[in-house]
Amino acid sequence: MKSLPCPHILQLEPYMSARRIGGNGKVWLNANELPFARMPYPLDESQYHRYPDHLPDLLHQKYAEYCQLQPEQVLALRGADEAIDLLIRSYCRASIDSIVTSSPTYGMYEVCGQIQDAQVCDIPLTEDFELNLAQLKQTPPNTKLVFVCNPNNPTGNAFSRQSIIELIEYYRDRALVVIDEAYIEFCPEQSLVGLLKRYPHLVIIRTLSKAFGLAGVHVGFALANSEVMETLRKVAAPYPLADPCAQIALSALENNAIDMMQRQVDEIKQTRQLFVEQLSLLANVVQVFPSQTNFVLVEFAEVKSVWETLVSHYIIARQIPHQRLERGIRFTIGSIDEMKQVIEVLKQ
Ligand SMILES: *Cc1c(COP(=O)(O)O)cnc(C)c1O
Repeated sequence: MKSLPCPHILQLEPYMSARRIGGNGKVWLNANELPFARMPYPLDESQYHRYPDHLPDLLHQKYAEYCQLQPEQVLALRGADEAIDLLIRSYCRASIDSIVTSSPTYGMYEVCGQIQDAQVCDIPLTEDFELNLAQLKQTPPNTKLVFVCNPNNPTGNAFSRQSIIELIEYYRDRALVVIDEAYIEFCPEQSLVGLLKRYPHLVIIRTLSKAFGLAGVHVGFALANSEVMETLRKVAAPYPLADPCAQIALSALENNAIDMMQRQVDEIKQTRQLFVEQLSLLANVVQVFPSQTNFVLVEFAEVKSVWETLVSHYIIARQIPHQRLERGIRFTIGSIDEMKQVIEVLKQ
């Protein structure tokens, strides 16, 4: 049995999701979820005996309205993670083609690349966490997908619009540029969705797991033009979304639900500001990186003791396995009360 799995899968280190890491926690600040529980949406159970084939069309329409696109430019999937996987499976031949990432960034690009046995070419961010454009223009000839997480997880910053546009211009007729906008509702002015009409090789990834507070429903989207969509729709599962999930996603995109999402985003941003102000008063804090998201990356002088103190108070944040972030901890912005608890513990 031991030699049956593909050799590259035998070597694979799986993605360490917050849930997989686990821990004994009362305050969960490790997966960038919203802290607000949701009123239950009413569900229509009458069609559960049928495959949900009419719901995706409605959802494509609704999400297209939300981001001012055409429904044909939207593909609803099981989370943004499925969009990443689908792109790599559709565009990268095993052991021949490459994806490009810019670390430190979201770990699933690399893991999905490895699962497909694609080459993963990392062009690290510059010292100030910007894209390294010079090196991003010297990637391997078989580069098919260039992933840009904007704003970036785990650093929290958005990249300069000009540098992303330069990247997109460079890769015209060479590769797809994939912009992961998982946190875009926290800085909507940074969205590049408006560029889709100009660039057929641009793909944008979105999710309802973060600002919309629906991580448990796990719905995400790929946004792209007809050529890319045609390819993705060939490979996508025939029924990617379960009927209840599609129904909940539709409800979350009603106007009043979008208003509520925006109010909650404002609340999180206020809490973030308070948290950052308090953090910068602490002696052990070396640096708080500016964030346009619902998390902040903090560099500590003595990260090990900070981490142990947090854990002993049942506060679970996230350490990032990247050599440049060895002294960093990423905190999701939870409720005001949760962040106060974190500050109290850090004062110790
Ligand atoms: C959380 C996250 C995702 C995954 O989103 P799902 O829709 O829950 O799969 C994708 N990209 C980034 C950058 C994320 O932080």
